[in-house]
Amino acid sequence: MIKRKIFTNLFLLSILSILLTSLLISLLYFNNSTETMKVNLRNNANFIADLLNVDGYSVLEKIPNRAKTDRITIVDPSGKALYDNRKSVSNLTDHSSRSEIIQALEKGIGESRRISDTTSKDTFYYAIKLKDGNIFRVSRDYPDFIKSFLASIPLLALIAIFVTMISLFLARRQSNAIVDPLNNLDLEQPMANNIYDEIAPLISRISDQQNQIKLHMTELQEKQTEFNSVVSNMKEGLILLNQNANILTINESARSIFAAEPGNYLGRKIFVLHRSSALQNLIESALEGNPREDVLTIDGHHYQFLVNPVSAEDKIKGVVLIILDITDKEEAEARRREFTGNVSHELKTPLTSIRGYAEIIHNGLVKSEDIPSFSGRIYSEADRMLTMVNDIMTLSHLDEDLPDLRTETVDLLPVIQDVSERMKPMAAGNQIRLIVDGENFQIKGIRQLIDEMIFNILDNAIKYNRPGGSVRIMLNSDANYGKVRITDTGIGIAREEQERVFERFYRVDKSHSRDSGGTGLGLSIVKHIAKIHRAKLELDSQVDIGTSITILFPKEQLASVDISLEPGLEGSE
Ligand code: ADP
Repeated sequence: MIKRKIFTNLFLLSILSILLTSLLISLLYFNNSTETMKVNLRNNANFIADLLNVDGYSVLEKIPNRAKTDRITIVDPSGKALYDNRKSVSNLTDHSSRSEIIQALEKGIGESRRISDTTSKDTFYYAIKLKDGNIFRVSRDYPDFIKSFLASIPLLALIAIFVTMISLFLARRQSNAIVDPLNNLDLEQPMANNIYDEIAPLISRISDQQNQIKLHMTELQEKQTEFNSVVSNMKEGLILLNQNANILTINESARSIFAAEPGNYLGRKIFVLHRSSALQNLIESALEGNPREDVLTIDGHHYQFLVNPVSAEDKIKGVVLIILDITDKEEAEARRREFTGNVSHELKTPLTSIRGYAEIIHNGLVKSEDIPSFSGRIYSEADRMLTMVNDIMTLSHLDEDLPDLRTETVDLLPVIQDVSERMKPMAAGNQIRLIVDGENFQIKGIRQLIDEMIFNILDNAIKYNRPGGSVRIMLNSDANYGKVRITDTGIGIAREEQERVFERFYRVDKSHSRDSGGTGLGLSIVKHIAKIHRAKLELDSQVDIGTSITILFPKEQLASVDISLEPGLEGSE
């Protein structure tokens, strides 16, 4: 564009200058030729006048024909024409008023330029006073400028064509020379260009703007990276959709929730990932501007879908979909419901017996000698209920949080000796020997819970033992673990039951357990406390030979205790 403009301007300029120059040259040339014509005429006239003065008028006859291009007139002092080589003298009017004649009569020489009365042409007159007093006048037509200009047009045209071609060529070269540096500007590094000073401000502005753009780009890239890293590390699924429900962003978690095949999902409809009316309803609702949530089940997992419209300038531009895996929460909820059901059931049994015994006594159906036995049963059922309530409270306390419990360095041996000391009367009553053996080690833990854990295991080891049997508590530690092993010589647990004894309310032999005051919660409490201390439990048992339960405290546990476990998520105790 600019190149064409420069070219056209240069070209027009050269054409205009050619025209003007031609005109000027023509004018100069014309002017010059009229001057030459006048000088010639004067010379010729003077020459002929000299001849006339010397040789008389007969000279006129001898003037060669070719010299007769000029009009020659001889006028007497009164103005009367005596001779004219063009016109008949009788036709000529009085010449006394002609200015050249008047001048010649006065000064000897006269000249003038005017339109001839006789020929009606622009004419130059030159008059000389002869010796005899007559006036000798020579005149010649003035060259016609238009005519001579028109005559020179072919030549001028030729010159114009030639010059036009040269100027075409030069204009093109010149416009290229001006524009090429602009075309070859290095816009990547504007300041490295060293061309016209006039465009230096433009270049420095481009450079400034480029720096600004680079800065913005870097900022945007940083934000994008930040966004990507946040989104891709999110546990929750995140999908951004445009107003046509096409995917703009999808993170790894969302892909794995939908078990999406590897591939590019950007720009595709969300329904290629999951086709269900529930999801469709959610998306439609968000696209209408209403945030909503719903729980969808995919591959046995429960997910909470939250949709929110994204709007800009009062228009809905898209949808944000967040997907949370609530399977654990749902399952924990289910376990809690089951636990509550079990608790009610377990408490109902002793309560029903208590009410039965009390009713019989109340109705006076019991003989007075049987009263102690009846009240003894009521007492033991109430006692079992109390134990169970205590166990339930301990468990729910562990399930919820541990506000009043302190982590400290605990010496295991004294704790175990303390528990066993407390259990001694019970052991003696069952004719069981308690033996504590081994060397002390320390762990970082919660003393009260460790006490509870040891107590429950020891309680079982005494309860499910046989008269004359023993319970041995061994402490030792190796490179990886601090170990507490409690071995009894009791009835043992069948292999198929060994997994289940840690479940809540699970009892191998219900009647035996109940007789010995069991609730089915002891080992689930043990498992819970072990988990809090990151300890492993090992059960080794043979029916009729005995049971051995080992608690393994990992070495790192000597430094820390995790009491931040989420409540109620403790698997299948
Ligand atoms: P309980 O209050 O019934 O003892 P636990 O959770 O402590 O409940 O134990 C669950 C079941 O595991 C018990 O009912 C019992 O049958 C069995 N059990 C636990 N410890 C032993 C053991 N040392 N020897 C034999 N059986 C045991």
